[in-house]
Amino acid sequence: MPKSQGGLGIRNLRTHNRALMANFAAKLLSSGTGPCFSWLADWYLSNDIPQTPLHADTPFWKSIVALIPTVQNATFCKIALGDRTALWHDNWINLGRLCHELPVLYSFAIDPCCTIQSQRPDGIWNLQLHNPLSHTAQLQLHVLLQALNNIASPGTNIQDDRLLVTTGKRPTTKDFYNLFSDKGLVWAPGRWVWRKIIPHRHRIFLWLALKGRLNTKDNMVVKKWCSDAGCDQCPAVESVEHITLQCRQADWVWDKLGVMQATRANDLKTLVHYVPSDTWPICMAACLLHLWKARNNRVFNNKHIARRPLLTNIADELTLWAFREPKLRSKLMHWVNKLLDPG
Ligand SMILES: [Zn+2]
Repeated sequence: MPKSQGGLGIRNLRTHNRALMANFAAKLLSSGTGPCFSWLADWYLSNDIPQTPLHADTPFWKSIVALIPTVQNATFCKIALGDRTALWHDNWINLGRLCHELPVLYSFAIDPCCTIQSQRPDGIWNLQLHNPLSHTAQLQLHVLLQALNNIASPGTNIQDDRLLVTTGKRPTTKDFYNLFSDKGLVWAPGRWVWRKIIPHRHRIFLWLALKGRLNTKDNMVVKKWCSDAGCDQCPAVESVEHITLQCRQADWVWDKLGVMQATRANDLKTLVHYVPSDTWPICMAACLLHLWKARNNRVFNNKHIARRPLLTNIADELTLWAFREPKLRSKLMHWVNKLLDPG
């Protein structure tokens, strides 16, 4: 899943495989994409472009055919000969997809999957329909013939082109991968969790923390690793929100930075949007990191950190990070000074 949608940016191989197959299908349905595609298309797609695989098809061809409707829905065609464009299912005419726009006439088609070329053998339209047509079908045929008359006759050596609806360019595997994997959901923290100023291992920590996947006691109870979900310092359930927003150490940090109000919402997303500054999420990331470190030191090493060393640790961390992006240095030092303020 992409990082912007809350994933780790690692490619899903199953989806990638589907995208490769869809790209293969798109090449089959376009002219001028190479001899191997032309040969396959001449063999399999000579008069019609199937929508569903046949029982007798090979497994390879079945997997390609299963993706043809997806490719057709994602693209529009600039036609010439029309040998790789489906008359009823492709988007090639101003009217839209004819199977949707003229559904009654479509139901009279002898071959619903026919190519344009098969219905225009010598440059003259010869639509093959079951006769007699119903009244509605005749009206829709009239509309279609009018639209067809407005289409200029193609030259013989021009090739069909299939372009993506979204970009107007020839589709690539990447386009299909995005099409298959994009769920339209944007994970808001994705914009700052992966910023380069934060060292990589800490970025992974932040991702785990914001996804609620750290091994806090509440998660450990769910995993049946322990039976007590209580915080070691106070009578509350130990969750990521508790450690980073409510527990005693958290109060020290957020009080010092003047954002106590936002922690009442018990939601890290509220806190990150509380201060309208582009360096605030970075400062917050350093705070979350050291609150978690303090918790681990307490639980595993029985070492309790005091208020002043905790604030100094966060300030040191931020100072270190500031060297990674000198442009943000002065803004980050504002937070460092706040943390080190002796008040
Ligand atoms: Zn606590």
